[in-house]
Amino acid sequence: MNQFQYVRAVSSKTAVATLAKDPSAKFIAGGTNLIDLMKNGVTAPQKLIDINNLPLAEIKKQANSLYIGALATNSGVADNKLVLQNQPLLAMALNAGASAQLRNVATVGGNMMQRTRCYYFYNTDLPCNKRQPGSGCGALEGINRMHAIFGFSQQCIAVHPSDMCVALAALDATVLVSRPKGDRKILFTDFHRLPGDHPEKDNTLAKDELITGVEIPDNSFGKNIHYLKVRDRASYAFALVSVAAALNIKNGTIKEARLAMGGVAHKPWRLTEAEKALVGKPASEETFKHAAEIAMQGAKGFKYNSFKLKMAPNTIIQALKTASATA
Ligand SMILES: Cc1cc2nc3c(=O)[nH]c(=O)nc-3n(C[C@H](O)[C@H](O)[C@H](O)COP(=O)(O)OP(=O)(O)OC[C@H]3O[C@@H](n4cnc5c(N)ncnc54)[C@H](O)[C@@H]3O)c2cc1C
Repeated sequence: MNQFQYVRAVSSKTAVATLAKDPSAKFIAGGTNLIDLMKNGVTAPQKLIDINNLPLAEIKKQANSLYIGALATNSGVADNKLVLQNQPLLAMALNAGASAQLRNVATVGGNMMQRTRCYYFYNTDLPCNKRQPGSGCGALEGINRMHAIFGFSQQCIAVHPSDMCVALAALDATVLVSRPKGDRKILFTDFHRLPGDHPEKDNTLAKDELITGVEIPDNSFGKNIHYLKVRDRASYAFALVSVAAALNIKNGTIKEARLAMGGVAHKPWRLTEAEKALVGKPASEETFKHAAEIAMQGAKGFKYNSFKLKMAPNTIIQALKTASATA
């Protein structure tokens, strides 16, 4: 492993100032992704800025939203009373991720910033435009079972691996950011990006910015929510396809709908056209099938992941059925 310096940030302001001064520095939170990447030689920061002492772990109800600090742990969020009362879809998605031990240390900010699980990204002997721009995409003609069916480019067909982020995309969350020039907010659906010609950039966070938290607006989905994750094992496996579904149903008619998919694109894949197709319709299997057809428009499979073209609509239909059936 390369040598690196280790410093503890005492405030968000000093954290971003330290990062701004050193382009090779990185924040470390739970370390569950960053340390793996360093051990594998995928990344070699010369300085780690430990942010764990910052007061960013709070979860609180605000006037029209729920605030969750960037250092709240994945299990702390999933078990939190306010989250379970106000945003149960988020708790469900978090509990589908990783393992209990990992969720105990993994943080909200780190989860958003986690890197793809593409085998070519992790194996430094193989080409990967995300790890080393210009080296090529090994997955394009290689083993691409886990890979994207939407929004990919010739440079990269990797997917974003997070479960939490699929729920946050569906719930219209906003990311709170601190930077040397002051604070700013980023819509969650604008936070992660598609690969285009720059797959090395996963998101729109600038190099000198710190995620301080997320805000999730209140909604009226109640219990009609479901997060369905399809994976190779029942636990400790990343999604092949996942769906976050939330419905507001009155007298059998869908008044409002939210849908997002994971495991299918370089970013959590919000399905706004499918949502529109659900609104005003009866909460029936026929409606869900039609929405799934719309959701799949433009999907394209590769040699080893074409099964996702069938698995994805089936997962959407099942997630909607379960969400609508919840009393
Ligand atoms: C075996 C295994 C299985 C897993 N399975 C799943 C799964 O099924 N589903 C799933 O969603 N995830 C899964 N994960 C990923 C896990 O959720 C992430 O590793 C974790 O959420 C990262 O959080 P962290 O706090 O440990 O981040 P760290 O490893 O500390 O940091 C990750 C990145 O985020 C940056 N960062 C951290 N905090 C901030 C901040 N506040 N502002 C700006 N940048 C920041 C760091 O600089 C670093 O680049 C798995 C991980 C492992 C090891």
